[in-house]
Amino acid sequence: MTTTAGRTAAAAAAIAERGAGTVSTEKGLITTVSSDWSRMSPVLQEKVPPGRYLADAVVRPATGQDVATILQVAFEHDVPVTPRGAGTGNYGQATPFDGGILLDLRGLTAISVDHSGRVNEDTVTTGAGARMTAIDKVLRAAGRDIWMYPSTKTSTLGGFVGGGSAGTGSIEHGTTSDGFVVAATVAPMDGSGELFTVTGEDLVPFVHTYGVTGVVVELEVRTDPARDWTAVYAAFDTYAELVAAHRSMLEVRPLPRLASGDEPALVPTLNAPVALDPTKFSLRVIAEASTSAQVASRVRAAGGDVVAELNDYAETDRLSGMSYNHPIWFLQRAYPERTWFHMETGGLPIWDDPEAVRACYDGPVHMHLEIFAHGPGAMVVAEYQGEQAMLDGIPKMEALGLGVHSPHQWYVDRSVGLAIETAKRTDPKGLLNPGKLTATPPVDTRVNIGVR
Ligand SMILES: Cc1cc2nc3c(=O)[nH]c(=O)nc-3n(C[C@H](O)[C@H](O)[C@H](O)COP(=O)(O)OP(=O)(O)OC[C@H]3O[C@@H](n4cnc5c(N)ncnc54)[C@H](O)[C@@H]3O)c2cc1C
Repeated sequence: MTTTAGRTAAAAAAIAERGAGTVSTEKGLITTVSSDWSRMSPVLQEKVPPGRYLADAVVRPATGQDVATILQVAFEHDVPVTPRGAGTGNYGQATPFDGGILLDLRGLTAISVDHSGRVNEDTVTTGAGARMTAIDKVLRAAGRDIWMYPSTKTSTLGGFVGGGSAGTGSIEHGTTSDGFVVAATVAPMDGSGELFTVTGEDLVPFVHTYGVTGVVVELEVRTDPARDWTAVYAAFDTYAELVAAHRSMLEVRPLPRLASGDEPALVPTLNAPVALDPTKFSLRVIAEASTSAQVASRVRAAGGDVVAELNDYAETDRLSGMSYNHPIWFLQRAYPERTWFHMETGGLPIWDDPEAVRACYDGPVHMHLEIFAHGPGAMVVAEYQGEQAMLDGIPKMEALGLGVHSPHQWYVDRSVGLAIETAKRTDPKGLLNPGKLTATPPVDTRVNIGVR
């Protein structure tokens, strides 16, 4: 009986012979790309530490057809394939549990413009490995804004759609499952060596399902006419004042692109371009420039002060880089001697009953605030006292009416039934990103923060 390593070597040789991608078996590279940002979770640090699960080879294709060919060869040789973009996923979703091929998609960088040199009217079509930063640059030059991007803006569009969820732009446009994706071209693991394109409802099993239903090689996603965005920093004495201003951002028209809030405990570690008072609560807003007076008057009405307004697009990127999971990472980096974990939550108790939310965990509990399309979201941060103590907080938060998503497990947790049905057709041997798709995961995978 052959080993996975042996079958991978045979497949890699066939891939190289067919010119479908560059192959590497260099140990350092394999170790690096076999792991992602799961180190943000103390649970995953223990369960999927770098080096425990390693691919046998890294294959880097240059085109979508290359990917289809690679999957055809892998299918013939029974070799697992785990797709990877920039590897910034924080749930261990791109860990190659069964070895085989780690498919590095960063070579699929095309960003298509039509013959007049302009991006299509309402959408942009890119290779799955194109980075959000590169797509945004092309779009801004063409007078368009991408609907949304994560705080990890150097990540790939394929990875964002495959494993991400929301970010800058989500106040107006919701999650990646809310119409952002118009079409996806997919390489199946079915031996066909062909690509297919899905649109509309058929996209569902290919969004946020970690590549288990097929490797996405090209995406068409929505854009808006470009706006003049500005970065606003405000400060408040109390959580109640911060909340009053935060919720009033939903009244601003056009809506802000982002509105992040932090308690004083999280403020000193933020990567801000202006000095932020570490005793104050911080609100940071990416607002349309013509609405800055609307934003400022709401900040003042809530009892706060505008600290700075930076009317420079690069500053809105920097502000976005302090949103979503980033403040948690900054905190972990600043205090490596302490172990922090976070839970991703959504719901009105974040604004209305913060003490009840904090009471779900022992010790100091902090909240980093965002606004999702349908209301407040928070990264609830506490000191880690073991996996069980961490999990015990989930039903307590749910009893308050909060939706919770646990970033401490690697199982597909959205559209699971549909993904299983689809994968029977697109991956009948179960070779795509093995270990991530099951109807009965042994851990708590609940995700309901996107439910309206
Ligand atoms: C500090 C920090 C902040 C973050 N902030 C955000 C945020 O604001 N919003 C958010 O949504 N996420 C966030 N994330 C998670 C992650 O960074 C983003 O989702 C990112 O867009 C993932 O892109 P990537 O290219 O790094 O994907 P990867 O990590 O490489 O892959 C993510 C998943 O998608 C799969 N995949 C990758 N490419 C493809 C493809 N072409 N076809 C099929 N499957 C594929 C992988 O197998 C994996 O399961 C954050 C993570 C960290 C560490």
